[in-house]
Amino acid sequence: METSDFNLRDYSVYFVDMDGVIVRSDHPIKGASESIEKLRGLGDVYVLSNNSTRSRESFAERLHGAGVDLPPEYIINSSFIASKYIVEKHGAVGVYPVGEEGLSEELMIAGNEVLEANRADVVVAGMDRGISYDKLAGALEALNSGARFYATNTDKTFPTPEGEKPGAGATVGAIEGMGFPPEKVTGKPSSIAAEIAMEVAGVTEPSDCLVIGDRLETDILMAERAGMNSVLALSGVDNSYPEGSETEAVKPTLTVHSLAELVLG
Ligand SMILES: [Mg+2]
Repeated sequence: METSDFNLRDYSVYFVDMDGVIVRSDHPIKGASESIEKLRGLGDVYVLSNNSTRSRESFAERLHGAGVDLPPEYIINSSFIASKYIVEKHGAVGVYPVGEEGLSEELMIAGNEVLEANRADVVVAGMDRGISYDKLAGALEALNSGARFYATNTDKTFPTPEGEKPGAGATVGAIEGMGFPPEKVTGKPSSIAAEIAMEVAGVTEPSDCLVIGDRLETDILMAERAGMNSVLALSGVDNSYPEGSETEAVKPTLTVHSLAELVLG
């Protein structure tokens, strides 16, 4: 698509990434609040985030604090996606999460039970700022006993105002390093994330959806695989595209400096 052919009004659903597009840590990115409000006047706006550290409810509160008002039902994050996927695939199971509070919360909201490692059917990993040798030892115990292993996402890094910090890829990599690669990664760029997002949004045509994100290898790649158009915002991780891009094969439909530039002009 030529840039001049791009029209924001051609879509009925907007899947907007959170970290690096709307906020950096808990700080709003300039113009994000007004942009989300205006976008909600054009169609249904969903936050689609690989961040697994909190529950949907808690992210709604976090966004409210940053001046962005979206009900929890409009937040589709990777702990929710993984929890929904696990229950759809296996029914409610005993889980051993290696992640932060929001991962356990969403797993339980979906009907699963958080158990001791030796009783768990499934290990689920996400970003974990409290990762420890003991937690990894628990994961190893569960996996050695035959538990399945799912990853919420494998984002290498996490953007903060102080620069990049380790993402969920660090947790997943630590477990993979013990000999257990994840059976499935459920967050972006997987088709599972796109399918669950469309299901939640009640939309059947990928062409009705626009993905807006800051990371080529997750946001833009998911969109490309799912047949959705996408916008890369340079306000987060991949901030120098197209220069030095490691994943040049992945191309957004449009590149902008920020959500505000896209929506407010
Ligand atoms: Mg992001």
